[in-house]
Amino acid sequence: MKQYIDEAEKYLMHTYNRYQVVLDRGEGMYLYDINGKRYLDFTAGIAVFALGYNNEQYNDALKKQVDTLLHTSNLFYSIPSLEASKKLLKASGMDRVFFTNSGAEAVEGAIKLARKYYYMKIGKVGGEIISMEKSFHGRTMGALSITGTKKYREPFEPLIGGVRFAEFNNLDSVKININDNTCAVIIEPVQGEGGIYPATKEFINGVRKLCDDKGILLIFDEIQCGMGRTGSMFSYQGYDVKPDIITCAKALGCGVPVGAFLATQDVASAFEPGDHGTTYGGNPFTAAAVSKVLDLYESENIIDNVNKMGQYLSLRLDELKKRYSIITEHRGKGLMQGLEFSIPVSGIITKALEKGLILISAGPHVIRFVPPLILEEKHIDEMIEILSQCMDA
Ligand SMILES: *Cc1c(COP(=O)(O)O)cnc(C)c1O
Repeated sequence: MKQYIDEAEKYLMHTYNRYQVVLDRGEGMYLYDINGKRYLDFTAGIAVFALGYNNEQYNDALKKQVDTLLHTSNLFYSIPSLEASKKLLKASGMDRVFFTNSGAEAVEGAIKLARKYYYMKIGKVGGEIISMEKSFHGRTMGALSITGTKKYREPFEPLIGGVRFAEFNNLDSVKININDNTCAVIIEPVQGEGGIYPATKEFINGVRKLCDDKGILLIFDEIQCGMGRTGSMFSYQGYDVKPDIITCAKALGCGVPVGAFLATQDVASAFEPGDHGTTYGGNPFTAAAVSKVLDLYESENIIDNVNKMGQYLSLRLDELKKRYSIITEHRGKGLMQGLEFSIPVSGIITKALEKGLILISAGPHVIRFVPPLILEEKHIDEMIEILSQCMDA
């Protein structure tokens, strides 16, 4: 593996400190490196592979579409894109969808739609956005502008203007940042990269009411916490509110690059032909993937499994917290959970990898658990066993 790794490091831009493993193939909950070593995967390609690796029905649907038609441009209609739209709108409770190639692009689209809605309503430019501290919305210039971590933003300034940051789960902080130009508030219902922080019901309800009172759009970035991960198809369905715009990606394609932003009819009607576009977004290939993913969520009872396994994972992580004093907090929802440590977690993660367990951090002190949504109790037990060994060591 070292040879491949050294060579790759000569060619790829050094934007990641990668795990020192060359992966080869996957099966269900497990990945295998090129030497045949097996790894239990609690990362799922960062909350992507909800259905596990090498799902036969999913693979067959993709193969069929490869042999039919991959791409058309968005100047034409296709049946896969119609099917994917219908199913995704039904699952999300929204009225209109625009498909993108990534999460960041879905966020870009959401920002543009909110600004255009404001422009149409107020008749002037300059709609401001309130985002949350510790939030993560992606790496493109627009998405970066509303990402709450200063060190990600600073080297790339000037970014888009008119962005304010409020404290997450603090309604007063949102209130004091609102002014006459505010066009949208964007929230991850469960913050992912920032350290697995679920929004409280009071906060979400309060922000929704505030937005309603002032005519401000509420955007939920569900790129990580959506698609069943937190126990409902979209995380907002676990609260009593509905957002005006939702962004989605990651598990939406379960391995093919696709994202989407969805909106209510009223909001979506702010866009006219020419306002937004994409060459690849929602082409027949990625749409066939989305369509099959949504079918399989139903036929394989993914949401039920998330609720059952989420409870069990929570129980086992609580036990771990009781056993080890370096674990300071346990947070999360469904199959999106985190343990916060009093020490940096990189050593534990490296040790786990040696022992055949793939884990990922969310900031320097948090281990994040975002496994494929098909996992079973025995996988949770196996993970806990390996993690305990790493902690003892
Ligand atoms: C991953 C992520 C993004 C960015 O998605 P990409 O596909 O990497 O561009 C945006 N928002 C949230 C909440 C994410 O977790």
